Parts: sequence; C-alpha cells; structure tokens
Amino acid sequence: MNEPVLALAGVEKIYNRGEPGEVSVLRGASLSIGAREVVALVAPSGAGKSTLLHIAGLLDAADAGTVAIGGEDMTRATDRARTAVRREKVGFIYQFHHLLPEFTARENVMLPQLANGAGQAAARARADMLLDKVGVAARATHRPAELSGGEQQRVAFCRALANGPSLLLADEPTGNLDPVTSETVFGALMDLVRETGLSALIATHNLELAGRMDRILRLDGGVLSAG
Ligand code: ADP
Repeated sequence: MNEPVLALAGVEKIYNRGEPGEVSVLRGASLSIGAREVVALVAPSGAGKSTLLHIAGLLDAADAGTVAIGGEDMTRATDRARTAVRREKVGFIYQFHHLLPEFTARENVMLPQLANGAGQAAARARADMLLDKVGVAARATHRPAELSGGEQQRVAFCRALANGPSLLLADEPTGNLDPVTSETVFGALMDLVRETGLSALIATHNLELAGRMDRILRLDGGVLSAG
C-alpha cells in the first residue's frame, strides 16, 4: 500500500490553555503528503507554521488529532518511539542554520550520522557527497563563521539530509537571506530534494518560491486549505 509519508488529521493546538492568554493556533488542521511530493506551506507570520511543523516532526504534541509518519500513527507513541522515528525519518531546516560553530562544515554533516551509529569513513563520505551536491565541497573544512549566509544554509540542508530521512520539514529555509542568494540557495535545496526523492513540507512567505513546489497549502484560522 502506498501510505502517505506524512498525514495530519484534525490537529488542534492551544497555547496557555485555560489562561487569559489562551491562543488556539491550530483548529483541526489536516494534510497528507505523498512520496516525493514537495508542498509549500504558506501563511502570514504568527499563523502557526512553526507550531504545525513542530507537531508534524514530533517535536511537540498536538492537543487533539493524529499525526502519522510513513503510515505509522505516532499520536500515542512513547517518547522513545517518537524520538526514534524523528531521528530516522525526519530532517529539519530552520530559518537560521544552527550549525555548531566549533566544527567544520563536514563535521557538522557527519555528527548526526555518528550519533546514529554510522562509522567515521562512511559518515565522511556521505557528508562530502552531500556538500558536493549543493556546491560547497570546497568549503568542507571551513567553520560556519568562515562561510557566507548562503553557504551556511547549504551546509544546514546537508545536515538535515545526513541520515537519509524520508520527510523534510523546513521553516522559512531561505527567509534570512537576501533575495538573490535566497533564489540560488532555494534552487540548490529543490535539486537536492528532487534528487534524493524526499517528500517535503516547506514553509515560506515567498509566493514565487511556493509556486515552484508541487502544490500549496495555506494555513489560515488554524486550518489548512489548498492554495
Ligand atoms: P508562525 O510560525 O506562523 O509565525 P507560530 O507557530 O510561531 O507561527 O506561532 C503561532 C501563534 O502561537 C503566535 O500567536 C505565537 O505567539 C503563539 N505561540 C507560539 N509558541 C507559543 C508558546 N510556546 N506559548 C504560547 N504561545 C505561543
């Protein structure tokens, strides 16, 4: 059976429940992303994109509704099971790269692999292969501070893909870059996603970038609809 790579059904999230500052951010959000599908998540700031991505990536729990990854319902799974699925199947990219400053580009891409049980040689070979695909192989031994913003973000893409996830979740991955750099770095990300056959949910404000994905989902009033 061809299970969706990611499926959310009726997801609700309320912050500060029962308090004066209660915010109902998600009010029954549902989506289904198939194999190799790249979906744009478009919404104004504060609409709940980060909340939705964190719930989809099992970093946060929904107050109601279900989350399934690779056909496996994770809603009532133990923390241990959620962590295992997140580590094996999900890659994250944020607006800021969050690379470890004391390690080189190559080491930043090797570390998640080593933490997942890979050997040094295999981790290094995969890191170099990924860095090469996004055009930063020549910077492999540089630390983040010695890289441009666009290069830092390309390295962060490689780190997200280090353990061969089936699902990529990205929160404004080029939102911190100038328009020209954003354009080329986004192109590198799309090439990498297409080449590795990943499914992806990519939040962006940029409608031109959203238009290059397979389809658009809009988050408005806590629910998702086709854009
Ligand atoms: P977006 O990513 O679309 O900008 P967020 O998911 O970050 O939106 O936030 C959605 C809403 O939820 C905002 O109003 C924000 O202030 C609120 N919010 C986010 N995280 C928390 C939290 N931990 N506690 C309380 N409110 C939060």
